[in-house]
Amino acid sequence: MNKNMLYRSIPKVDVLLENERIQETIEQYGRNAVMECIHIETDRLRSFIAKCEDEEEAGKRIKQLVPCIVKTAEKMHTPNMKKVINGTGTILHTNLGRAPIGRTHMEKAAELVCGYSNLEYNLEQGKRGERYSHFEELLCKITGAEAAMAVNNNASSVLLILSSLAKGGEVIVSRGELIEIGGKFRIPDVMEQSGASLVEVGTTNKTHYSDYEEHITEETKALLKVHTSNYRIVGFTESVTIDELVPLAREREIPVIEDLGSGVLIDLSKYGLSYEPTVQESVAKGADVVCFSGDKLFGGPQAGIIIGRKKYIDKMKKNQLTRALRIDKFTAAALELVLQEYLSEEKAIQNIPVLRMITEPLDETAKRARSLARTIRGAGIAAKVDVVSCESQIGGGSLPLERIPSMAVAIRPEKIRVPELEERMHRLPVPIIPRTVHDAVTLDVRTIESNDFKLIAVELQELMDVES
Ligand SMILES: *Cc1c(COP(=O)(O)O)cnc(C)c1O
Repeated sequence: MNKNMLYRSIPKVDVLLENERIQETIEQYGRNAVMECIHIETDRLRSFIAKCEDEEEAGKRIKQLVPCIVKTAEKMHTPNMKKVINGTGTILHTNLGRAPIGRTHMEKAAELVCGYSNLEYNLEQGKRGERYSHFEELLCKITGAEAAMAVNNNASSVLLILSSLAKGGEVIVSRGELIEIGGKFRIPDVMEQSGASLVEVGTTNKTHYSDYEEHITEETKALLKVHTSNYRIVGFTESVTIDELVPLAREREIPVIEDLGSGVLIDLSKYGLSYEPTVQESVAKGADVVCFSGDKLFGGPQAGIIIGRKKYIDKMKKNQLTRALRIDKFTAAALELVLQEYLSEEKAIQNIPVLRMITEPLDETAKRARSLARTIRGAGIAAKVDVVSCESQIGGGSLPLERIPSMAVAIRPEKIRVPELEERMHRLPVPIIPRTVHDAVTLDVRTIESNDFKLIAVELQELMDVES
């Protein structure tokens, strides 16, 4: 076999550049990127020829050079982050992007960020404005607070609040509330970063009013309550409520801070969930500063929302850290749009995906599950497809014990094994993340939009067609 001849038959770069498909690819992705792909693919071809003992095979590969270059260029320009179908039934799935945002909200926000906006411009006065101004009034109206702002996420809220109000002093926290939230966010560590020192009081299961009272000194700058949203201590427990702490703090002229974590603005117990203290309630009970996540039960963009007394919020707005932690224009735009939905509860439930999923009645979920099952059966795949009952979870460290009765489509493949099916589902162009139960993969429809049913069926059909 004449390897030299094979090497020589590899088209030269200038010849490749004349090729019509390569020229189209350059048109699409630019010359530099395509040149890089040409080098990658010709190098790959050379190493193949070096190892190959089959002349015919090598000839075939040389003929495939142009399509390979095009494919590599396409792959290089396909975003790695992509849409996935969440069939797990976990509504706030941290690994899958937590709260999905309403399409209309995002479309409106996109309109704002694609061009210029009055993000920090006061149109009435014709001068510099504040990025919080667009939603501060709304937040105050909805929660009953005096002032409001928002930062990058709720971890930032806690850092900013403590740094602004308690740096160099002490903050009292119950031992039952020294929590860790996923991703190594630990209250004691954040406290240290903020420059405030932690004074732990009480025990894991019980903290009394007197524990706070006995530890207040001249150095105490704030009392902090942390809503243990991601776990529960049950049984022989006691904790001190906000309204009990408020008189104690007032006497010393220090603030009571509450980190609510999830931040519900609607009483979800009406919809069959257990009661979660609402943001409004915390404000009404007298908390001076309250913070919560934008993308947990609130159902908006990633943000840390801080509300409370004006004198404290003003301090935070002036803190140097705010510049580092501030929200971007996309978030500011989306936050205002989501907040407007909260002006009436029925609109919030209709238009905020997280709330819509949580409150979807079971008979509606069942109807949608039957529809998904029909659509999948229609694709004629080699599998048994059934509608089964299941339980959805809230997730995202919110309402950890809560289970919402739900309906799923169970797929029992006939020709491949369940783990193989699941693996293939992950590798689809729009990956499907199911929940595997015994001998079936299940798709909980509570977290799947009906708009995606057709896509799921088409993808499953293609996936089953592949020989194992
Ligand atoms: C989730 C949570 C946080 C962190 O919020 P992020 O928005 O994820 O930064 C802080 N405190 C509590 C109590 C939480 O539940």
